[in-house]
Parts: sequence; C-alpha cells; structure tokens
Amino acid sequence: MELLKRLSETPGVAGREERVRELIEKELAGVVDEFHVDAMGNLTAVKKAGKDGAPRAMIAAHMDEIGFYVRHIDDKGFIRLQRVGGFDPRNLFARQVTVHASISGEELIGVMNPAGKPIHISTAEERGKVPELDAFYVDLGLKADDVRAQVRVGDMVTLNQQFVDLGAVVTGKALDDRAGCWVLIETLKRLDDPAFEVHGVFTVQEEVGLRGALTGAYRVEPHVGIALDTTLAVDTPDIGEHLRVTQLGKGVGLKVMDSSAISTRWLLDEFIALAEKHGVEYQLEVLPLGGTDAGAIQRTRTGVPSITLSTPSRYVHTVTEMVAKSDLEAEVTLLTAFLQEGTDRLDP
Ligand SMILES: [Zn+2]
Repeated sequence: MELLKRLSETPGVAGREERVRELIEKELAGVVDEFHVDAMGNLTAVKKAGKDGAPRAMIAAHMDEIGFYVRHIDDKGFIRLQRVGGFDPRNLFARQVTVHASISGEELIGVMNPAGKPIHISTAEERGKVPELDAFYVDLGLKADDVRAQVRVGDMVTLNQQFVDLGAVVTGKALDDRAGCWVLIETLKRLDDPAFEVHGVFTVQEEVGLRGALTGAYRVEPHVGIALDTTLAVDTPDIGEHLRVTQLGKGVGLKVMDSSAISTRWLLDEFIALAEKHGVEYQLEVLPLGGTDAGAIQRTRTGVPSITLSTPSRYVHTVTEMVAKSDLEAEVTLLTAFLQEGTDRLDP
C-alpha cells in the first residue's frame, strides 16, 4: 500500500499528469520491455508476449485526478477557479488545497470556501442553499501583489488529503483512478510470458472526456481493450439496495454498461467464466451515469472488443474515496489470469 499512498498523494489534474507519469515510469523500470510517451502525455508500458504474433491487449488506467486551474486573481488576492472534472460542491467546503505556483515554483497551501457569510451571521435560507461551483475561491493568506508575483492564470490547484491505511480498506484522494494505476502496475509486475503483447497505457485527461485513451488506443491498435477504473460502491446508509451499483469488499466489478460503453458481450462472458474458474470474487455492474476509457477504446478505428474492470469505491469524487484491499487483489488476480491465459476468440 506504500505505492498506492504515493500514487494517491502525488498531484496531477487533467492536463498536468507529469509527476504521476514520472512516478509510474520509475516504478516500472526493469519490469516492462519498453516505454513510450505520446504527444498527449499518455505513458505506454509494453510487456512482450511469450510467443511471436500474439494479439495486443491495451490495458488503460487514467493518471489524472479531478481538480482546478487558476482562472482569476482578484484585487484582494483571492483566487477564482476553473474546475477540471466533476465535483459536487457539497464536498468542497473548508478544504485545504495546494496552488502549484508556476512563477515562483512554490507549492502554496491555501484554503477553499464558497463566497458568502459565515454561519453566525447568515439567515436560515442562506444556510440551506448549496453554492454553485463558481462561488468557490482559494485564500492563500497573501496580499494580491504577493499572489500575482507567484501565481499565474492556468496554474494547477489540487485538493490536499493524506492517504490512510485503515486495515481492510484505504482512504484518500484521487483513488479514482490511482487505484487503477496501482492495479495495472501490480499486474505488469506479475506477468510472465503473457499470451498477449500487453500495452499498459497510463492515460491522461480521462476526467474531461476520455481524451488520452482516444489517442493511446489509436497508436496501440489493440485487439482487445480493458479499462481499469473505480466505480460507485453505494452500500452506505439511507440509500436503497436497488441503487447499489457495487458494494465495497464484494470483489472486482465486471462492467456490463455505463453511459460511455456497453461492454463487448463475449468479453464479459469470458471474464465471468474466468472469475469462476479461479474462484475470484466478482460483481456485475450497471452504472447509469459515468464513463471510463473503455468508451474511447471500443470506438477506436474499426472498433475494439472492450470491457471495464472496476474497483468499487465509496465517496467517489471526494478526497475521502475508499477502496477495499480485497477488491484490488481480486482485480489483479483476474486481470493477470486473463493476460496470461489469453482467449480463443482472438487467435490470429
Ligand atoms: Zn476514473
């Protein structure tokens, strides 16, 4: 979990994934046969197959996290933000953030709050309203001149949160999708003469519309595509069982569909059969709204058989995302088995 802690705490909003990419490249040095970084910033780590002429599998996990860019610095030094990715404003009150100041090169700690009155002097009606995302600003505690001497429009702002290992589960920021990055790294380490030529693609800009996976898949030209991403574990209080999607600790999620893709049926059937053969705990997942890199891979060129393996996560898109170690292990076991054993459906 030490690796997942580092992945979680490394800042990298969509478009600024370079530090996450460096970390992963270091971690996989000597493990894979080659690396490639494309113009978008996707990192592809290739593990050669056991024999020549093997089909190519693209396994995608996105490096980017949801966050912000500086949009405006006002005359008092308060910073207004542009969001990158889907935030729920209810989760953004009283947050500690880091402004990655490009002029000074400093990492400036600040606090984020919505514009408006403190509780003591607000009316009941004002307190009942959830502010729009646009209302949130960052206070660095500095004068405007100090801020402007260090920070520029377009600088990255990330939410701060320490990663914590709670035993059976872990919690922290950006587990969407650093958990997927962890699963991919761990799988690449375990592969030994796989049945596929395995292209582990650590993608960029997933949170703003699956952008990295699009160019990554075009380059790899995979015969099969697998996205690794978190999904909703809705097993928390006061939510009906029919809205569950998945549950924490009940195994790897096998995606049937979401709003970006309907998983290729034979691939889903193969993963179900493989999970049963190896005794890997799994849960079938239907997600009404949301997408993964599989949505981009599946529609590349003339189409690619694709599926998503999901990590169930509570509190998705907050800094207190929570995933279960047993689900991560189930995912690595199943993915490794698939890549080692291959599939008859793709024999050239
Ligand atoms: Zn994600």
